[in-house]
Amino acid sequence: MTQVERQQWDVVIIGAGGAGLRAAIEARERGLRTAVICKSLFGKAHTVMAEGGIAASMGNVNEGDNWQVHFRDTMRGGKFLNQWRMAELHAREAPDRVWELETWGALFDRTADGRISQRNFGGHEYPRLAHVGDRTGLELIRTLQQKVVALQQEDFKESGDYEARIKVFQECTVTQILKERGLKGGESVSGAFCYERESGRFFVLEAPAVVLATGGIGKSFKVTSNSWEYTGDGHALALLAGASLINMEFVQFHPTGMVWPPSVKGILVTESVRGDGGVLRNSEGKRFMFDYVPDVFKEKYAESEEEADGWYEDPDNNRRPPELLPRDEVARAINSEVKAGRGTPHGGVYLDVSTRMSAEVIKRRLPSMHHQFLELADVDITAEPMEVGPTCHYVMGGVDVDSETAAARGVPGLFAAGEVAGGMHGSNRLGGNSLSDLLVFGRRAGLHAAEYAREHGAARPAVSEEQIAAAADEALRPFGVAEAPTSKTGTASPPENPYTVHQELQQAMNDLVGIIRREEEMTQALAKLAELRGRARRAGVEGHRQFNPGWHLALDLRNMLLVSECVARAARNRTESRGGHTRDDYPGMDREWRRANLVCTLAGATAPPEARTATDGPGGSGEAGATRSESGGRIAIRRREMPPIRGDLLDLFEKDELIKYLTDEELTTE
Ligand code: FAD
Repeated sequence: MTQVERQQWDVVIIGAGGAGLRAAIEARERGLRTAVICKSLFGKAHTVMAEGGIAASMGNVNEGDNWQVHFRDTMRGGKFLNQWRMAELHAREAPDRVWELETWGALFDRTADGRISQRNFGGHEYPRLAHVGDRTGLELIRTLQQKVVALQQEDFKESGDYEARIKVFQECTVTQILKERGLKGGESVSGAFCYERESGRFFVLEAPAVVLATGGIGKSFKVTSNSWEYTGDGHALALLAGASLINMEFVQFHPTGMVWPPSVKGILVTESVRGDGGVLRNSEGKRFMFDYVPDVFKEKYAESEEEADGWYEDPDNNRRPPELLPRDEVARAINSEVKAGRGTPHGGVYLDVSTRMSAEVIKRRLPSMHHQFLELADVDITAEPMEVGPTCHYVMGGVDVDSETAAARGVPGLFAAGEVAGGMHGSNRLGGNSLSDLLVFGRRAGLHAAEYAREHGAARPAVSEEQIAAAADEALRPFGVAEAPTSKTGTASPPENPYTVHQELQQAMNDLVGIIRREEEMTQALAKLAELRGRARRAGVEGHRQFNPGWHLALDLRNMLLVSECVARAARNRTESRGGHTRDDYPGMDREWRRANLVCTLAGATAPPEARTATDGPGGSGEAGATRSESGGRIAIRRREMPPIRGDLLDLFEKDELIKYLTDEELTTE
């Protein structure tokens, strides 16, 4: 049997991005021994790439802003599918989380009178994003890392050990959440099974509470702004541990990624470019976004270029430019322009900031964008337009969590925060709302994981040798894939190449479950995923365990395939268009879907108790309790009704607006 080192901790946090670090700080500050584990180098999480800013209604630039307006914008952006309690907590607590960062040493850009400056972003009524040029994520991570180091120094003073109560395991990957039957009979979390990238060595972190903070899923798509580590690991780990995922059909395609040269296709062009005045034009020079303002937003957006341009100087007497519509609207508009033959030579549209700002201001406000285009595309954005097009950017769907505690429903001891958690953003996230989300709910996850560990720590379930051996066998499987004889010819077929399987997966998701979706294509995608799942089981690798990227990819494939099936199944099931889910065959938003969440579980798993009482509607499996999957996939899906929005929160909206979203039943009981 493989000898595997075990360590005991109170709380294990998987992921060292903004959500993970904020959770770790909270758990450690509450006195719990906390381990943080991350796949990449410490400090190189996805959060570091965030550019535009953190949304928080501090009202520094426009005093009209407050949490209620932020809540309203977030619900509108998510087309009312948000878990409203999460959206409320987020809007209320975000300003405190930004102030807190300042007290820990973050240096934000300032207003003329010395307050934290806030910039405009799509879907936000007021300038709301606290920022540091276009490198906000870097400052956020730097500050959180500095705080972790400060806590370690405190521990050193007390115990002589920097890592006594908070330790980071970098370049280490979790492949399984461990669960055991506890003293009271029920199954609960007991730790995480991990491998170290450099040596390939396995180890187990035992703990009664585990927080997932692993970020998103973009690497399942071909064109994406996401980096190599976004393989949906936390989503898959949660599913495999018995948790459910919600809203997986909602994937955000950011409207502006680079389209040229091919090697950088998908890299993000921050929304700050539009927030700071960038305009979108097609190949005919037309500022086309005026043609794409949907009815629900008509009253809030300018009707002419003159009015739109006037808004930057005089927002009280002009309406916002349509370039600042929520991301889903802008991405669809760009897609339509390109499809109609009005795209740029490389299949995008033009985004121009050079006509609005001087070269000096562009270099000061958008230094990374200036550098990015000059270095990667030989384009000087102070003098010429950029070519941009949609890129897969963010997943709204994620672990089904309790709004207050971030606890994953149905799996005691499991928590989730940040991009891996679902619900907060409904069908579409507003820019800037992720950084604030991960601070607000990262803190909450750390807090409640600490409380849970304190309560359950004494009776912690022991991790069995059998479970460790099974996890090790599963992780080593790609080394043992032998040539298989093919049934017809009898000739041997070599093991599958994990890179080929990955490429085919990305192509299929991009082409068949991308920005515009159709039933037949999604059915095709599900068949392709089933084929790839079989091939991934035969993905083989050579060499040894020390720093072997092919092996790591072979392990990641399991996660990407599970998550992709969730996306494809949920997308095929939801017969309407809403936010980050656009159906060519069901182009309108259907009010009857407003209160419906699609819940994904592993086929054969038993639904958590609350799900059994939920109403299954059209498109759902119609089952309660034990779930099953259609067409032999691994994922079962069911429809669950959302709780009604609290009356005082509904009162923040005009009745006319609510009519566009709410069901008849909700409107009559309001
Ligand atoms: P991450 O920061 O991605 O951290 C995930 C962590 O989990 C990493 O440490 C990773 O190594 C680890 N991990 C993953 N799998 C495993 C595993 N199996 N085992 C161990 N560790 C694992 N949002 C905004 O609000 N404002 C912006 O301006 C903004 N700009 C953006 C710009 C870009 C280019 C991109 C791509 C995104 C941007 N976003 C922005 C979105 C935002 O950055 C992310 O949603 C957010 O940072 C996610 O944070 P997180 O803590 O959930 O995950």
